[in-house]
Amino acid sequence: MALPDRRAPPVLLVHGGAWSIPGAELEAHEVGVKKALAAGFALLNQGASALDAVEAAVAALEDDEAFDAGRGSFLNRDGRVQLDALLMDGASLRAGGVGCVERLKNPIHAARLVMEKSPHVYLVGAGAEEFAKEHGMAWIKNSVLVIDRERRRLKEAQRANGGRKPDGSRHAGNLRLHNAKSHPAKSHKAKSLETKSHEIRFHDAKFHDTVGAVALDAAGNLAAATSTGGTLNKIPGRVGDSSLIGCGCYADNQSAAASLTGWGEPIMRLVLGKWACDRVQQLHPPEEAAEEAMGYLHARLQGHGGIILLDRAGRFGLAHNTPYMPWGISDQRGIRTGTKI
Ligand code: ASP
Repeated sequence: MALPDRRAPPVLLVHGGAWSIPGAELEAHEVGVKKALAAGFALLNQGASALDAVEAAVAALEDDEAFDAGRGSFLNRDGRVQLDALLMDGASLRAGGVGCVERLKNPIHAARLVMEKSPHVYLVGAGAEEFAKEHGMAWIKNSVLVIDRERRRLKEAQRANGGRKPDGSRHAGNLRLHNAKSHPAKSHKAKSLETKSHEIRFHDAKFHDTVGAVALDAAGNLAAATSTGGTLNKIPGRVGDSSLIGCGCYADNQSAAASLTGWGEPIMRLVLGKWACDRVQQLHPPEEAAEEAMGYLHARLQGHGGIILLDRAGRFGLAHNTPYMPWGISDQRGIRTGTKI
């Protein structure tokens, strides 16, 4: 059932990734969230669209090295930054995404170009970079996106993993997962091994600070955007949930706008962004639906992450099942921020 068309004053929500942030980095995350709110909400106040607001907020977060998006992102197994981003317009259901781009400072701007200037929804790798260049975006060297903190993190992750297991996964764990899937009559033993391999993957991969935003504009339209450098030590070419429609990002005026963060593979398998928006359409308040989404993620796949969710009435929900998720809200009541809910 479609939600009633109730106009509400503009609202902007942002997040800076769900994970276990070291104490020394908490303040930088909260400062970054505030800057992103300022950039996006100024536009909403001037009557700009929700789409413009989420793009501006996410671009500000991409520019901030504290987060896993743009410069300062986690490095892949080869020591390179590979970026994914998506935005979606709840009024038209149009969306634009890019995956595995290495030469663009702000992949969220490239995603907007894909949406506005191409007949497609998603471009990846060199094709996405060429397309962005054709439409005026400058290329940068990948090394511009790489910072020392991330070189150190990659070294530590590879040392801890014997240098051969991307994404914190144990090779044997992956094989079990694959086998379990291809045998419908899997034993209880196989199931418990599968669970264990998931747990190992989460705890080894402590770092998740993808960025995202959802907004409601004065015209009553919703939009969502998510941008990420993905997961630490990932296999080159890996795309996570963040830039996939309905997984890490979704917006539909008839339900809600969502941006997610966390361990991407379980989020993708559950198409969790769309799942959460559907709950809102089924008349669960966003506050409740956000909690339910995290509960579902953990109950089904032992997944960990966070979500921001907003409906057309300006009601919102924030939830995470990780130690922290930097968040911020800007609306008629002012600005509120925090590092956990
Ligand atoms: N969801 C992202 C991914 O799996 C990571 C994150 O949220 O930080 O690529």
